[in-house]
Amino acid sequence: MGRAFVYVILGGGVAAGYAALEFVNRGLSNAQLCIISQEPVAPYERPALSKGFLLPEAPARLPSFHTCVGANQERLTPKWYKQHGNSFITYSYFLLILSSFSNIYFISFHSGIELILGTAVKSADVKRKTLLTATGETISYKILIVATGARALKLEEFGVTGSDAENVCYLRDIADANRLVDAIQSSPGGNAVVIGGGYIGMECAASLVINKINVTMVFPETHCMARLLTPKIATYYEEYYKSKGVDFIKGTVLQSLDFDSNGKVTAVNLRDGRKISVDMVVVGIGIRPNTGLFEGQLTLEKGGIKVNGKLQSSNSSVYAIGDVAAFPVKVFGEIRRLEHVDAARKSARHAVAAIMDGDKTGEFDYLPFFYSRVFTLSWQFYGDNVGEVVYFGDMPSGETFGAYWVSKGHLVGAFLEGGTKEEYEAIAKTTRLRPEIEDLGELERHGLGFAVTV
Ligand code: FAD
Ligand code: NDP
Repeated sequence: MGRAFVYVILGGGVAAGYAALEFVNRGLSNAQLCIISQEPVAPYERPALSKGFLLPEAPARLPSFHTCVGANQERLTPKWYKQHGNSFITYSYFLLILSSFSNIYFISFHSGIELILGTAVKSADVKRKTLLTATGETISYKILIVATGARALKLEEFGVTGSDAENVCYLRDIADANRLVDAIQSSPGGNAVVIGGGYIGMECAASLVINKINVTMVFPETHCMARLLTPKIATYYEEYYKSKGVDFIKGTVLQSLDFDSNGKVTAVNLRDGRKISVDMVVVGIGIRPNTGLFEGQLTLEKGGIKVNGKLQSSNSSVYAIGDVAAFPVKVFGEIRRLEHVDAARKSARHAVAAIMDGDKTGEFDYLPFFYSRVFTLSWQFYGDNVGEVVYFGDMPSGETFGAYWVSKGHLVGAFLEGGTKEEYEAIAKTTRLRPEIEDLGELERHGLGFAVTV
């Protein structure tokens, strides 16, 4: 059994949803688009899972956060996919498709964009241009867009067993988020240990506090968000978390878990010898891109699928977007893989533009953008955090403060907490311009005003 499509998107996450919208906006016609996802629901805005989804009152639930609401665009419900991209395949195109596939069994004349949900792809053959699903179906394509995202790293990969316990939670998809909500609801006023001081750790810790759970964060670095934040900025956030009751145990990692007779975790044992009693554990220790289907078939770099400025891989019929893509970041002159939603959305749009418009579409020119929202705090970061750091604003008051990064005489990065829409736009614009900075003291004196007046 098999089906053939002109365009296939493998993976049904953020990037897939934005790619689908771009196909439709560009007049997807006389063609078939299919999205295959192992998740049982249509693409949604994954960032909601650590924020609105975990609220104790009026939590966000699907369908409210299907893509592409996160970028203030249409909400692509399952009905949307049925209603779009459904122009009938003309006879000539039908013949073209028929002649393009050597191993098709039939062409399906469905209406709309085909969403194949709850179905994992088990293998891919880029030479034959086929995917084999877990249900045994062969899907053929002319153009494949790989949007398989990433998986959460498990404790077992660090030599600790116990990830399957019902009160040990990861957070990558809706199933994880439901499990986390169950654990929260089963532990009223209880104690949680959050393992990892990155994005998941910080956002989940805030959500747990909002749910009146006592939180201890454990991570190996000297401060939270160590890859992005300077110690000074991180200290501000840690102090804020402490004011909300969060304890920090830094410079150590999890050694083992203790269980009761039902297999529930009762305590975590740290490498520094401490034991902490727990009602639940949340683990956010990083991710690995889902490249496995393409190892040995496509060129990989930085842990992802290496693509060019059109998001095209080493096989010209295969594109990669989102977390799984390692693409040239023009402003830095190097290949990077970014694990953030803005990159997923924009790489998706660019890949579809390149596929549909060919040479008319230039190279992807992306300015890295990260953000987070916790409690009443909200920050944005643009560019790169290398070089000397120049702080501005009133950090102790926490109202509006930030930093610039200056490398080789140019401003290359900017961070801002508590800014207005216009101020965020200003730091983004300034970072993209990479202005020459001769005097760091003067930049410090101008502070946020420098970006606003550039
Ligand atoms: P994903 O959205 O992960 O989608 C990948 C899809 O591929 C999934 O549906 C998966 O099931 C499917 N898939 C994988 N392998 C297969 C297979 N073999 N067969 C079929 N389907 C497959 N970024 C920010 O910038 N800001 C935030 O506030 C933010 N919050 C986040 C909160 C959480 C809880 C998480 C987990 C991530 C957050 N991110 C945030 C990161 C952001 O969500 C990701 O960068 C983004 O989702 C990447 O999109 P993607 O489409 O590449 O991958
Ligand atoms: P991160 O890479 O952000 O952070 C992982 C953290 O866990 C790091 O501090 C890491 O330290 C630490 N760590 C690694 N191993 C251990 C260990 N054995 N014990 C304790 N700590 C450990 O990954 P997350 O899991 O937090 O996030 C997963 C993905 O979700 C990322 O792609 C992230 O971008 C995305 N996300 C983004 C959000 C946003 O942009 N606002 C919000 C939520 C998720 P070290 O640095 O030393 O390895």
